[in-house]
Amino acid sequence: MEPQAASTNPVAWSRKHLLGLEDLSKAEITGILDTADSFLEVSSRSRKKVPTLQGRVVFNLFFENSTRTRTSFDLAAKRLSADTQDFSASVSSLSKGETFIDTARNIEAMGADVMVVRHPTPGAPHLLAQHVQSSIINAGDGAHEHPTQGLLDLMTIRRKKGKVEGLTVGIVGDISHSRVARSNIWGLLKLGARVILCGPPTLVPRSMERLGCEVAHHLDQILPQCDVVNVLRIQLERQQKALFPSIAEYSQLYGMTQERVRRGKDDLLVLAPGPINRGVELTPEVADGPNSAILDQVTNGLAVRMAVLYLLSGRMNARRSTTEEILGDMAATK
Ligand code: ASP
Repeated sequence: MEPQAASTNPVAWSRKHLLGLEDLSKAEITGILDTADSFLEVSSRSRKKVPTLQGRVVFNLFFENSTRTRTSFDLAAKRLSADTQDFSASVSSLSKGETFIDTARNIEAMGADVMVVRHPTPGAPHLLAQHVQSSIINAGDGAHEHPTQGLLDLMTIRRKKGKVEGLTVGIVGDISHSRVARSNIWGLLKLGARVILCGPPTLVPRSMERLGCEVAHHLDQILPQCDVVNVLRIQLERQQKALFPSIAEYSQLYGMTQERVRRGKDDLLVLAPGPINRGVELTPEVADGPNSAILDQVTNGLAVRMAVLYLLSGRMNARRSTTEEILGDMAATK
């Protein structure tokens, strides 16, 4: 059975790729979230598979480590009945000098309908989108965007709070180096939330106000106003030099503790994209406590990725019908 919302409330979706939330409209984002809500229902059934992508091939191309995103995309594609294939950069011919684009062209030649791409270089998925015919989904490009993470965060907020518009969302931590922050900022602003970015000045420059957000450096000052806090990991792998004195000091000023949760609104929603560092960005009591939606985010992430693959498949089916028409025409003219 196809998801209900997709059939009763058709989503206007004509894109071939999902590269970021910056260029999606509010209607497109809402359409993905509505479709994902329906897939959440599919995931709760005893038989969790739908035939939508039968015969289609989804390739995971990950040039950076991943736990949740990679497995979540793989499972999402399998639940839609696609064939899935993992490409591992470390054991590929890239180490023999093959270029990124040549590698992708070879994967395309194997019939990849969709490539899910994670790469340390911002813009790498956009580059592939210009060189291959397959649909490209950005699964994280450097510090630029991580659109499905932004979507699953929006979905979690919308399901927990019933809306996104009018909420105040604090994004706390290493904003400068975070692709999750950027996708959240675009998505939240488009859906009408107020966004406050909070962290040390070295990780949250004032210039980010230009995006339409507020910038703050004292978590305790903004916390009472927040309906949601999204606590980001310090991206040490992208920092070239020490940007704060020590982890202990960082945790003291910006770590989400039980005491801070108590001082926030009663129904403060705590999100974290994972991987979480217990005791650094948030304490174990907060991560596992009643205000945390960290595992809901993971569950919703699967539904969001099914929704994105499903919506892109509308275009794939259009491509298939063209081929079938041509084959039908050839048979008829024999
Ligand atoms: N998993 C997220 C990402 O890939 C967040 C993180 O790594 O901190 O960007």
